[in-house]
Amino acid sequence: MSDDLHEIYAIRYGHHARRSPANFIDGDPHDVLQPLDFFVWAIVGPSGAIILDTGFDEAMSRRRQREITKPVRDGLAALGIAPEAVATVIVSHLHYDHCGNHDLFPHAHYHLQDREMAYATGRCMCHQALRLPFEADDVVAMVRKVFAGRATFHDGDGEIAPGVSVHLIGGHSKGLQCVRVMTRRGPVVLASDATHLYAHIDGGRVFPITYNIAEVLEGYRTLKELAASPRHVVPGHDPLVLARYPAKPGLEGWIARLDVEPKES
Ligand SMILES: [Zn+2]
Ligand SMILES: [Zn+2]
Repeated sequence: MSDDLHEIYAIRYGHHARRSPANFIDGDPHDVLQPLDFFVWAIVGPSGAIILDTGFDEAMSRRRQREITKPVRDGLAALGIAPEAVATVIVSHLHYDHCGNHDLFPHAHYHLQDREMAYATGRCMCHQALRLPFEADDVVAMVRKVFAGRATFHDGDGEIAPGVSVHLIGGHSKGLQCVRVMTRRGPVVLASDATHLYAHIDGGRVFPITYNIAEVLEGYRTLKELAASPRHVVPGHDPLVLARYPAKPGLEGWIARLDVEPKES
């Protein structure tokens, strides 16, 4: 494997059954079942595994009434990844479903955007509507990592490793970043919540939790510019990801491989 080429795995750890009107600003006239899956992602290259996002734990699952299908640790174990050996974690943003499991990676260094930490610790959190997807304990845990010398901040674009870079999108959360990964099939973009579902980026529609709609819509363009093609953009919460990408053998419905071409859909 060339130095900057990586394998990518989507690890599904949770599920939330909901109807389509809950997924779009202005609702959805079809009112059909349109569940969300919850993922973390493993980016595996020459220097080990880089983990994108850390999911949530059992306590948060109960608190938020979101189902855990398989704990994040089990998904990593299925790929032979020991969390204790992970050196690098990228946090796309500080919403509860992306930055929990605070102690799962005891030796990791965390990468996030300046703007996300400022947002999550500043005046916007005085507003209930804006702090809804955040948990104080998650934010405090990240502050503690900063004080422990275990965080690096990015302001816009940043390189994490050869072939792995972060890019500020904003929109859904003020400092949301996506991750671009070089693979055998060209650059793949892990959008995280820059597009929850394929339906958002394909239809120019917007998920209801939003800091800035204009940045969401511009973000769709940025995702496409960063990726080799629209088929190289991977949404953050879409159950179709596991349908379109081949499963890691024996791990169907749980772990899919994203550095190979998706099936036709
Ligand atoms: Zn989010
Ligand atoms: Zn999310």
